[in-house]
Amino acid sequence: MLLSRFQALVLLCAAVPVSAQTIVLKAARLFDGKADKLQSPGLVVVTGQRIESVGTGSELPANAQVIDLGDATLLPGFMDAHTHLGYPGGGDGPTFLIRMLQQTVAERTLASSVSARLTLQAGFTTVRDLGGMDFINVGLREGINKGHIEGPRMQTTAYSIGSTGGHCDPTNGTRFGVLQPELSPPAIANGPDAIRAAVRWNHKYGADVIKVCATGGVLSLVDDVDSPQLTQEELNALVDQSHTMKLRAAAHAHGAEGAKRAIRAGIDSIEHGSFMDDEALRLMIQKGTFYVPTLMALEGVKPSLAAGRLDPHIAKKARLAIDAIDATARKAISMGVRIAFGTDAAVYPHGMNAGEFRLLVAHGMKPIAALRAATSVDAELLGLSDRLGTLQAGKIADIIAVPGDPLQDIRVTERVMFVMKEGKIYRNTK
Ligand SMILES: [Zn+2]
Repeated sequence: MLLSRFQALVLLCAAVPVSAQTIVLKAARLFDGKADKLQSPGLVVVTGQRIESVGTGSELPANAQVIDLGDATLLPGFMDAHTHLGYPGGGDGPTFLIRMLQQTVAERTLASSVSARLTLQAGFTTVRDLGGMDFINVGLREGINKGHIEGPRMQTTAYSIGSTGGHCDPTNGTRFGVLQPELSPPAIANGPDAIRAAVRWNHKYGADVIKVCATGGVLSLVDDVDSPQLTQEELNALVDQSHTMKLRAAAHAHGAEGAKRAIRAGIDSIEHGSFMDDEALRLMIQKGTFYVPTLMALEGVKPSLAAGRLDPHIAKKARLAIDAIDATARKAISMGVRIAFGTDAAVYPHGMNAGEFRLLVAHGMKPIAALRAATSVDAELLGLSDRLGTLQAGKIADIIAVPGDPLQDIRVTERVMFVMKEGKIYRNTK
C-alpha cells in the first residue's frame, strides 16, 4: 500500500515513543468519540504516544502518573476540517490583502506559529488547512512535525485551485500586471488538463489535501458569491487526479450548481454550501459527501459588516450568504447529511474554533452529534480513523478535557482545560 506523505509521517511519529511513561487520566465523564452517551467515570491510561486502555475495567499500572481532572469530561482531541493557519485572523477582504502585501513571508510565518499554538491550546489537536499563500501552511506543518513549534497536527493544501478571476485567484480585484506573476501560481488554472497539472503542482510542493473553489465566495472582490467557477469536466479532472494520487479533495462552494458539479465529480467534502438546494443535499446523502458548513465563517464576518468596514460588493455578498446559510444548515442536519466540523479559522480570530459547536447545536444538531462531528466524523473525512478520532486502546493519545458536562452546556467546549497530543501534555489549567 502506498502511503501519503501525511500518513507516512504519522506512522513514523507513532513508531518512536516520547517516553515509556504511563499517565492515568481521570475525570467525572468521558466521551469516546463515537457513542451516543458519555461514560462515567472517565478513565484513560496512556503509555508513550498511545492509549493503553479506556474505562475503569482494568487494573491501574503501578508507578503511573495520575492526573485527576475532577468534574470534567475527557474527549478525543478536537479536529477542525477547515482552517487557514497561514492567514492572520479576522479577514475583511481588501484590508486583508493589503496587510498580506505589506508583511514579509517571515513575519507572517511567525504570526502563524502563534495562531497554531492558540489552536492547539483551544483543544484542536488536528486541523485540515484549506488554502494559504507562500507555502506558510506547508512550512507550519513541517515545523510542528519536527517539534520546532507547538501546534495541531496538520493536513494541508499548498495553494487552493481555482479559475482565473475566481474566488481562489489571489489577484482577484487588483489591477492587471501589478501582482503578476508572484501571486498567480499554477493553482489558478483553466481547462481539465491545467486543473490536473495544478493538483500535481500542489502535491509536488507539499500538499496532502486538495482544495478547489467551485463557486464564488464572500471575501473576494469581483465575483458573485454563488456562480459556478469551474465546469463539470474541470471538477471531474480535479477529483480524479486527486484520488489517483491518494489525496482527498474539498470544494469551497456557496452556490447550488457549483456544489452539485463538485458532488457529482465525487468530491470528499463541500465547504460552506450556503445556497445548496434540496437536490444538492439529497445528492450528498446518495454519494456520502461530507458537509462542512463553517458557520463560524459568517459569524466572523458579522462584526466587520456591522461596522461598515467591508467593501460594498463584499458586504452585499455577506448579507446574501448570512440570509441563506441558516436554513441550509438546518435542513442538512435534519435530512441527515454527514456533517463534519470545520470553521474557516482566520475569517474569525484563531483559537475560537470551538464556537462552531454552539452554532451547530443552535441549528438543530444534538450536542453529542456535534462532538462526534469534531472527533470521529472529522477523522473519517481526513482518512485518519484507524489512529485518531476516538478514545480506544491502540489509538494515538490525543486527549483533551473540558470542565463540566458538554451535553448540559455545549459552550464548555470553548473552555478546554487539558490538552494532550501524542501523549505529550500541552495544557493543564486545572
Ligand atoms: Zn476557507
